[in-house]
Amino acid sequence: MRSIIYYVQEFLRPEWLKKFFFAKTAPLSTPPYFKDYPFQTEKECTGCFSCMMICPAPEAIAVLRRKDQWVPEVYPGHCIRCGLCVEACPEGVLSSGRILDVTRRDGTALSSWYHLEVDDTLCMRCGNCCVSCPINRQEDPQLAATGTSASDEVIMRIEGGRVRILHEEKCTGCKTCETHCPNRAIRVARMVEGVQKEVEA
Ligand code: SF4
Ligand code: SF4
Ligand code: SF4
Repeated sequence: MRSIIYYVQEFLRPEWLKKFFFAKTAPLSTPPYFKDYPFQTEKECTGCFSCMMICPAPEAIAVLRRKDQWVPEVYPGHCIRCGLCVEACPEGVLSSGRILDVTRRDGTALSSWYHLEVDDTLCMRCGNCCVSCPINRQEDPQLAATGTSASDEVIMRIEGGRVRILHEEKCTGCKTCETHCPNRAIRVARMVEGVQKEVEA
């Protein structure tokens, strides 16, 4: 009972009541770095799939064929609002708020690629990565079950008893090699770099 009286007395202190009824918070404003969900501008989507390829969030964006048009559809429940799709679209079909206006204005763009790394201490030289890679099989249909290949066009092959990476730039980032590696020896990492483009006068 005494503690209840104490709390009531505390609550009724004039300075506390004043704060309670007259406290003012700063008006809410959107910070300049905030990016909203991407939305489609009036520009026409050509169906190049660049946005889907660069998107790091599973099932966040899908380029769909609707009637006679391609439509990039963003799923807000999955989208993390990174803005990469907006920056990757060569046609400027997507927009996502202020930060893009800034990057557009100063000519910054993002370029990304995939980097493959094999940990030789974990690699068992089984060749699974080379054999499972869809691009490898496309480049060399004769690719051996051991992962060796006579073609210099494959992404990677078993050579001299280890995995040799020849054409990292052809990697699509599908991560099939990672999934099929029995020892988690191969890693596919997306690398993103900001590049300065010529700004139109
Ligand atoms: S903003 Fe990022 S997470 Fe969202 S759809 Fe675009 S690329 Fe994917
Ligand atoms: S991520 Fe896909 S395309 Fe790239 S090396 Fe692995 S399997 Fe091949
Ligand atoms: S699948 Fe893994 S263990 Fe086998 S060769 Fe490739 S990186 Fe090495």
